[in-house]
Amino acid sequence: MKNLKTFPGWSMAAFGFLLLLTSCEPAPVTLALHNPIYPTASQNVTYTLERVTTGTINSARLFETVSTVNSAGTITAGTETELQSWSSPAGDLSFVKSGGYAANSLVTYRWEVKVQEEDKEKTKTYRVTYAIRPYPVPNQPAPVYVQGDPDDVFDLVFIPDTDITDMDGFRNHCRENIRNAFFDEPHTRLWRRQFNFYINPMTGTAKDADSGESHIVPSNNAQLAFAEGRCLMHRVSIRDYASGGLFSTEQENRGTVLHESGHALFKLADEYCGNTSYHAQPNSPNLWSSQAAAEAAADDYGSCKTISDVRRIQSGDCVKNWWKLCVENCQMKVSGLNHTQYDCPCRARITTRVFELTSD
Ligand SMILES: [Zn+2]
Repeated sequence: MKNLKTFPGWSMAAFGFLLLLTSCEPAPVTLALHNPIYPTASQNVTYTLERVTTGTINSARLFETVSTVNSAGTITAGTETELQSWSSPAGDLSFVKSGGYAANSLVTYRWEVKVQEEDKEKTKTYRVTYAIRPYPVPNQPAPVYVQGDPDDVFDLVFIPDTDITDMDGFRNHCRENIRNAFFDEPHTRLWRRQFNFYINPMTGTAKDADSGESHIVPSNNAQLAFAEGRCLMHRVSIRDYASGGLFSTEQENRGTVLHESGHALFKLADEYCGNTSYHAQPNSPNLWSSQAAAEAAADDYGSCKTISDVRRIQSGDCVKNWWKLCVENCQMKVSGLNHTQYDCPCRARITTRVFELTSD
């Protein structure tokens, strides 16, 4: 991916080709997860490879590497061992690590999955690292699902709000945000290897967007500067908002976490008409400042969009000098309990951000 430095200069035709190219993933689409997402010492850990589309798995192997980390953050690397192998497995694959791991462990698991694509066998690899609770490095967020170099992928830190009382419930919502938001929406699922997730040891406090108050950041906020996104998960019902990479969501709202991540991680603009700010990114915007500009962009998404899809940002008495191409239930128009999908212009913006991160 490092040779994509010239990406912003590519023509939109090449970009469209790239979007089509990246849509092909050998079947079946599989999701690798562990449960609990941030286990304590000695707690059983279940590894799953969930099949979310049909397709043949010829064979699969699951490996683990148990390293240790001390309070200075120094890692002593372990050696990789095989946990289990499967031949022609049906359904989902799962393995229980009975008795879990010792305190101060940093566990890396690796799935090696051989799938059949027409006459060729292809290998899919997932490599995930997570910490055993409590993570011993003071003031640092615990890695709970880390796949890539933080410089190259999206880093998202889940921060418990001061109103969270059930921390097991909070941690489960963190896992559900990974599985049922980022790994469920089709376009972020396609890019699922480009996300690292962490849980913060310190709390913050979310404020209502209409209160005029700013979110209160956790005391270790300076340690979170590496992360593109900081997600304040709370219980109280408020109007959530994102600012400078920090955003709030009710902990159970998969639609809100994806809408606000649209702002924080992907620099997408709101598509509803209301008391918010609008902008057009220079590359792959989801809003345009004139109808003519939106019409000119309609060709950029293959068969997904035509000029007839151009809509003004408008609702009742609310009218803005901004135009869009996305459908009315696009994730950047709506939020709430259940997620919808990012429509084509938003998908192009997400893909652009993936390449910006990997090539910078
Ligand atoms: Zn918004």
